[in-house]
Formats: sequence, C-alpha cells, structure tokens
Amino acid sequence: MSEVQDLYQQVILDHNRKPRNFRKLAAPTRLAEGFNPLCGDRVAVEVELDGGVIRDVAFQGTGCAISKASASMMTAILKGKTVAEAEETFTQFHRMLTEDRPGDAPPALGKLASFAGVREFPIRIKCATLAWHALHAALAGQAEPVSTE
Ligand code: ZN
Repeated sequence: MSEVQDLYQQVILDHNRKPRNFRKLAAPTRLAEGFNPLCGDRVAVEVELDGGVIRDVAFQGTGCAISKASASMMTAILKGKTVAEAEETFTQFHRMLTEDRPGDAPPALGKLASFAGVREFPIRIKCATLAWHALHAALAGQAEPVSTE
C-alpha cells in the first residue's frame, strides 16, 4: 500500500463524500469555530450539552478531505459521551498523530485509527485535529475562534 493510499483510506473517503452530522443543531448550548490557515480549512462545531453529556454534536464548514472526514468521524464517535470522555478521546487521537511510537492505535479510538497514516504528513495533522480543537474550545466555553497557528 502506498503512502497516499494509506493516508486516504476508504473510511476517510467515505466520510468526506457523505459527512455525518453536517448540519446545524436546533438548540446548541456550545459552539466554536476553527480555522487552519495552512490549508484553508474552516469548521464550526455545535454541541448540545446536557448535564455533562454530549447529547448531540454537529459541524459545518469547508476544507480538505482530511479535515472534513475528521470532523464527521468526530461527531459520530462523540455522541452520548461525557465531556471527560470526549477530552480523553481527543488526547488519545492527538497522541496517535504526534507521538512516534510503533504499534496500533488504542482500541478506544475505533475508526479514528484510520487517521494514523496522517502522522507521516505533519502538515496534515492540523487538518485532522482542527475540528477537535474547535470542539475543545466549545466545551471550554471559549468565544473566540480557534486557529491552528
Ligand atoms: Zn486541510
């Protein structure tokens, strides 16, 4: 498998083509925007929090396949999780992309492991984590848009 095939795995292409939760929420309790100037990716993440649990989460935006697929997969995985679980998932995801360690991704990451190949393309790491940074800002209640720079 070539590096490029490895990067754009089928699951990433599928989420790019048919992004999940690509919509606005009726009653978001938190929201944040993210911008990745290196690639031009923009994302707005909306969350409906209920007693520390993510009842619903959705995103809108424009960007490359990696950024869009990552946002899509993030929303699919986080629904029903607590804020603490969401932050832990972000930590594990970020670690998988930035730490040079052999072996498999943690099982808790599920399909997010599809992004492991992004580790070989440092400029793409910001695409893959953009929606997560926006989510983190939303959960923290930040009002200012986040930038990867
Ligand atoms: Zn990008």
